Amino acid sequence: MSNIRCLYCVLRKKQNKRFSKTKPSVSELRRDIVSGDWVVIATGRGKRPDAFKSKPASFFHSRNTCPFEDPQSSGHEQPMLKYFKPQSNDWFLQVVPNKFPAFMSKGVCQVFGKVGPYTTTNGYGFHELFILEDHKRYALSLYSKDELAELVRAYHERFSALSEEDCIQYITIFHNHGREAGSSIGHPHSQLIAMPVVPPDVSGSLNGSKRHFHETGQCVHCLMIEFERKEKIRIIFENDAFVVFAPFVSRAAFEMRIFPKKHQSSFKFLSEKEDRLHLAEALRTALIKLYKGLNDPPFNFFIHTAPVAGGEYDHYHWHIEVVPKTSVWAGFELGTGIEISAIEPEKAAKFLRKIKI
Ligand SMILES: [Zn+2]
Ligand SMILES: [Zn+2]
Repeated sequence: MSNIRCLYCVLRKKQNKRFSKTKPSVSELRRDIVSGDWVVIATGRGKRPDAFKSKPASFFHSRNTCPFEDPQSSGHEQPMLKYFKPQSNDWFLQVVPNKFPAFMSKGVCQVFGKVGPYTTTNGYGFHELFILEDHKRYALSLYSKDELAELVRAYHERFSALSEEDCIQYITIFHNHGREAGSSIGHPHSQLIAMPVVPPDVSGSLNGSKRHFHETGQCVHCLMIEFERKEKIRIIFENDAFVVFAPFVSRAAFEMRIFPKKHQSSFKFLSEKEDRLHLAEALRTALIKLYKGLNDPPFNFFIHTAPVAGGEYDHYHWHIEVVPKTSVWAGFELGTGIEISAIEPEKAAKFLRKIKI
């Protein structure tokens, strides 16, 4: 579907003209008065309605035109983080502010507005890119465990730094692989968005785990992990610190979740090198199984973690969700919010378990 576009792509077109002088707010958050959910609206002038007309989207850039080959020469600011290859002056990874952010920290922290019965607030926050140097290795499954542990270290470093910022309530880290999964630039990169509100999917999970904790005194995620490890039929991989399984209630075919075995509410607790290596091994294994088993399908993965402000979240248990893009939301999904997975998670797990890495 050509209406699937990545944030970088959409906002780049929209903001090209607007960054030169005044740096106005790039987005506005609007709250649905019925559901209470927030959405982000890219504000300002720039995009005409006919820009949304269906057309084939471009994807793989050649190295000559790729904006991530040398991020600074293509207009990105200096990196806030840069890692180098072992015993080398060549960079391996750098973190830069997104040139076309969905949220930005210029201006006032958070200003609430009213439009009739509706509530709005400005899109204050941070939007950063984790760019890996090697254009040719677009798939993360082609990286070694040590290399992915460095990527995880960078995620953790920026997560920890931004969690100290005023006004930030939630930090999401995600990776889009393939055009159908919303990526427009065929150069490996992940993204981080630090925002002033807790997104609806996360608050739904937080409320569910809090309710379960109050009723039973137990973490609902620990309960699931214990059950899955006993049942074994949905387990795909485990090492000393992490477990990968197909959720019993999978929303997409071949969906996987990666949980730390130790109860931890937030990604910020992943501070030990050994734990990062264990996570890198679990993530790498999950991604290689998808790459080999399903012939490199498009997918998204994202970290679900406790908010960084605004309450007590000991009842929560952070994790990574890997969701292959095996279908599009059509009338039934949009009309009901119920997703259809075309394969039983038990069969998907059995298939992925057998893929040799
Ligand atoms: Zn490139
Ligand atoms: Zn737990």
